[in-house]
Amino acid sequence: MRIEEVTSTTKAQRIATHTHIKGLGLAEDGTALTLAAGFVGQEQAREACGVVVDMIRQKKMAGRALLMTGAPGSGKTALALGVAQELGSKVPFCPMVGSEVYSSEVKKTAVLMEHFRRAIGLRIKENKEVYEGEVTELTPEEAESQTGGYGKVIASVVIGLKSVKGNKHLKLDPTIYDALQKERVAVGDVIYIEANSGAVKRVGRCDAYATEFDLEAEEYVPLPKGDVHKKKEVVQDVTLHDLDAANARPQGGQDVMSVMGQLLKPKKTEITDKLRQEINKVVNRYIDQGTAELVPGVLFIDEVHMLDIECFTFLNRALESSLAPIVIFATNRGICQIRGTDMRSPHGVPVDLLDRLLIIRTLPYSLEEAVQILAIRAQVEGIRMEEAALGYLGEISQAASLRHAVQLLTPAHVLAKSNGREEVARGDVEEVHALFRDAKFTSRLLAEQADKYVS
Ligand code: ATP
Repeated sequence: MRIEEVTSTTKAQRIATHTHIKGLGLAEDGTALTLAAGFVGQEQAREACGVVVDMIRQKKMAGRALLMTGAPGSGKTALALGVAQELGSKVPFCPMVGSEVYSSEVKKTAVLMEHFRRAIGLRIKENKEVYEGEVTELTPEEAESQTGGYGKVIASVVIGLKSVKGNKHLKLDPTIYDALQKERVAVGDVIYIEANSGAVKRVGRCDAYATEFDLEAEEYVPLPKGDVHKKKEVVQDVTLHDLDAANARPQGGQDVMSVMGQLLKPKKTEITDKLRQEINKVVNRYIDQGTAELVPGVLFIDEVHMLDIECFTFLNRALESSLAPIVIFATNRGICQIRGTDMRSPHGVPVDLLDRLLIIRTLPYSLEEAVQILAIRAQVEGIRMEEAALGYLGEISQAASLRHAVQLLTPAHVLAKSNGREEVARGDVEEVHALFRDAKFTSRLLAEQADKYVS
């Protein structure tokens, strides 16, 4: 058994409940379709988001941000994700909760900065030439006569390289033989030699290459010159944070992230402001050269009232930067205290930041809409529900929140299965509803029975 590093799945989980959302579901003229792209209802907010997407496309959002206000489970996160998807398929979406900035190890502004950089994508284009050949065994005479002396002794046999299709011997330089030897290729192996502007980048077995890059043989485009020469524009999508992290902890090796991690010469161990500035310089050079393109994504900060004045000061400045993502805040609070001050303000956000915000309100769902959303989620999660079960879950969402009702789907399914049924019945929902309490219920209970709890 191997000991492996445990990587956090929080971010993936936060997006997992929104996999049915594929965009904002708007018609050509910007009006919201009743049920489209996984979205149900919330028409006004979706249309407002559509206008914001147009503003972003016209580069009119610089220095501004969006604020979604509305009850828990009213679709604020789903709308923010919809905005990111409308902007393009590989546009980064980075969700976080305001309280994440409070950690004993990292400064609040550093946490915010990291999330900013997670939300900025970079599309790097590279032209790669790939040669394919088969390792063949040769006699010294064959090596001399057929390859003009380009065969070489590797592991006590003389090997040459035949082009896979053309069946001619390839002329190779000694560095390729050294690389072949390192890769321990055997006679009969089909190998590739990857070059970038004529310089050999790497050599390896074709099967490994195809898996690593997820390439199918037919994706290679043969050049007219000959069948051994295939060229492909490889597009790699990374975020600025990926580049920071890769350069802070360079691993060495041949995978794409390691190669990207060698952008900077002096090896650092931590992501510092200086490292980020250096990365920005390299990135800007790539952009000027036309090898990379910036893809600003969406940073979604839920529970914005949890941020304090220091964070707001940072955000005000960061929004001005030319390397800023689209920032979407969300809250369900009305007027409350701005953390770190004794001032009160709408949504706990200082007025100077409020001035820069476009505010979109999400409205509660009708029972019918909630049932429709729950039906979509059940379908996406492969859970079959009796109509009465869906209806009851809809009622729960009205009394508690849609988010809570969505969360009950899986336990209800597990319960049904353990009772030998594939379809979830109303009774299963009733049972899990009795087992798991929603936030509203517990806070009411705590308030009513405050004297029984330690405070
Ligand atoms: P919170 O305030 O708790 O963060 P929220 O307002 O961000 O909640 P979501 O998390 O977006 O609410 O919604 C809860 C669940 O309902 C998610 O699975 C979301 O994808 C789904 N959902 C919400 N609104 C819609 C909608 N209009 N159409 C389809 N699915 C929706």
